[in-house]
Amino acid sequence: MSVIPHLINGELVTENGRAVDVYNPSTGQAIHKLPLATRETIQSAIDAAKAAFPAWRNTPPAKRAQVMFRFKQLLEQNEARISQLISEEHGKTLEDAAGELKRGIENVEFACAAPEILKGEYSRNVGPNIDAWSDFQPLGVVAGITPFNFPAMVPLWMYPLAIVCGNCFILKPSERDPSSTLLIAQLLLEAGLPKGVVSVVHGDKAAVDALIEAPEVKALSFVGSTPIAEYIYSEGTKRGKRVQALGGAKNHAVLMPDADLDNAVSALMGAAYGSCGERCMAISVAVCVGDQVADALVAKLVPQIKALKIGAGTNCGLDMGPLVTGQARDKVSGYVEDGVAAGATLVVDGRGLTVAGHEEGFFLGGCLFDNVTPEMRIYKEEIFGPVLCVVRVNSLEEAMQLINDHEYGNGTCIFTRDGEAARLFCDEIEVGMVGVNVPLPVPVAYHSFGGWKRSLFGDLHAYGPDGVRFYTRRKAITQRWPQRASHEASQFAFPSL
Ligand code: NAD
Repeated sequence: MSVIPHLINGELVTENGRAVDVYNPSTGQAIHKLPLATRETIQSAIDAAKAAFPAWRNTPPAKRAQVMFRFKQLLEQNEARISQLISEEHGKTLEDAAGELKRGIENVEFACAAPEILKGEYSRNVGPNIDAWSDFQPLGVVAGITPFNFPAMVPLWMYPLAIVCGNCFILKPSERDPSSTLLIAQLLLEAGLPKGVVSVVHGDKAAVDALIEAPEVKALSFVGSTPIAEYIYSEGTKRGKRVQALGGAKNHAVLMPDADLDNAVSALMGAAYGSCGERCMAISVAVCVGDQVADALVAKLVPQIKALKIGAGTNCGLDMGPLVTGQARDKVSGYVEDGVAAGATLVVDGRGLTVAGHEEGFFLGGCLFDNVTPEMRIYKEEIFGPVLCVVRVNSLEEAMQLINDHEYGNGTCIFTRDGEAARLFCDEIEVGMVGVNVPLPVPVAYHSFGGWKRSLFGDLHAYGPDGVRFYTRRKAITQRWPQRASHEASQFAFPSL
């Protein structure tokens, strides 16, 4: 079994000590050993970042952007290799892996605009012979901690922008599927990034705690589950760090009686079962306005769920691969059991699925529950698997109340032909990202990504304009060049025009 190294100060580094196995979820076999960084290893990445910062901070933004242009090309040239690595360790299909990489590359393209996005603000003549401007300066050493479900895209939400803003970045990817993340960081060095500006360290809670506790780390970007997001936010902010911590989700799709049902069903199939439901924007609840819509929806979904093509993600032409680990598969199966015990109607049961030739893989077929009610655990909690729950309500207002009462507020969507209903929904819904006839409203890279309520801790969303604000601090400069002959008397009143 090969050992996956850290990437510190431009060098691949291995260490003896605590390690975990990385699995291929399609075969159920351990394929790599992953060392878990010690405090000393984390400190060496911090030291490298600190040493690289002064020169990188003073590198012209246009030069930093040139690295991003080359990086984008390398990512595109290596798409097949990266997708293969994602699929091998995460389990998602190759097409899905290529899709996440493309959405990640969007963020590199946005970062290519560094000279434009860092231009600052300037006001001439704010007073007699006085000009003022705001400059956006880097924070220094910043760190990112990322989840397993998008090993390429989520890190790319963070460090391209952080580094074109002049920071040095330490990435702690998920321990479950780190190989594509590491390869991508190596491509960034190949693109000409000076060593130390980005390091990748593998690890678990101990590594994350070392980053939280290090005074040199000025900001933390986190994406993962809500309990860990809350922990990182409270521990980080307690130490005076800037933190954006994106957490879990329960995303509802509202189906209005006038919706184009066939298109809504196609959209829901991809949004609920794509990537085996392991997406923070996956639709896991279909809220049907009226029994007629619910009956028709269930009737149309059942044959499509039963026909899902499920197999090893690295085979082409599939709809769904396995879950990421055996533990994740068992957890999702446990929720299915729980839903049945709570009285929901299990219309399609995907448990017990085996894939020929991959009998040890972590597979679970698509599951569908009808008659789900708000007090059930399968409604309240994030399942993070291929399970769609149908909730029946009588009106749009009732649907919106249900969504607004939920603890999570990441994404949601409405399927309708009624502009008035859609407008009301967009205005009043307590959710950070909203789709109208769009099931996965993941904002493009030049808008920002983030949920509301317990789906995000912190003020600024990820990437886009909020990302620029997160990775820079404003300095406001007021400058006066008096005319030589003039003399101005002391002024004891507060300066004003
Ligand atoms: P996770 O919270 O288990 O792990 C995320 C990261 O935190 C990993 O790098 C992990 O090593 C680290 N970590 C785990 N336990 C820790 C602890 N006790 N202390 C400190 N660090 C710890 O999440 P996951 O299972 O990798 O990813 C799935 C979750 O991520 C889901 O809840 C999903 O909704 C969420 N997610 C959210 C978004 C979003 O944008 N809101 C995007 C993707 C995933």
